[in-house]
Amino acid sequence: MTGTSILARPLPEQIVYIGRRMFERRLTDMAGGNISARDGNNLYISPRYAGSRQHWQLETDDILCGPIESDDLLSHPRFSREGKTHLAIYREFADVGAIIHAHPFHVLPFCVAGRPIEPVLESTQKFGVTPVARFAPAHSESLAHNVVACLRGREANIRKQAAAVLLPKHGIFVAGLDLFAAVDALERIDWNAWCIMSQAFLPAMPVAYEIA
Ligand SMILES: [Zn+2]
Repeated sequence: MTGTSILARPLPEQIVYIGRRMFERRLTDMAGGNISARDGNNLYISPRYAGSRQHWQLETDDILCGPIESDDLLSHPRFSREGKTHLAIYREFADVGAIIHAHPFHVLPFCVAGRPIEPVLESTQKFGVTPVARFAPAHSESLAHNVVACLRGREANIRKQAAAVLLPKHGIFVAGLDLFAAVDALERIDWNAWCIMSQAFLPAMPVAYEIA
């Protein structure tokens, strides 16, 4: 990456770059996650075990590419087990250019509680409330179905930047216009989650500081 903006680099390089940033910033963990981007009728996607075996230190050779409309990728030994949900989202929503599934540090408590994330920052209003999908086991066809169902009706949010869905006891899916829109939404929603939780630790404001 000498001198050229990462935004101008090929999609596999962008996926590698974003995976490293997400891991550094605790937006996902060693247990996993996956990152994909649409390129016409194909998608590029991070491989299975990107977290547990590679700690998100991927190289461009690790990135898989295959058709969106067929199930060819499902038989690839390195195709991510959550890849079915990526395919289902691309097939249903023409405006989605990139998808991130992650296990973000501050979002996971909401997944455990089964609690939607309301936007409390100015910077997250455009995503609306991030709902919780109906439970389905990780890697299942029903999970793909439930995530797509939660994104329906939120196409306007996707066209603005992105829309996200929480998976009970598991993590988050973000569907965005492109990779940078999706990862930006992921971090904003994660910090928004921290802002909600941290209110419980804040002591009452001393009277002397109250705004008149
Ligand atoms: Zn996961």
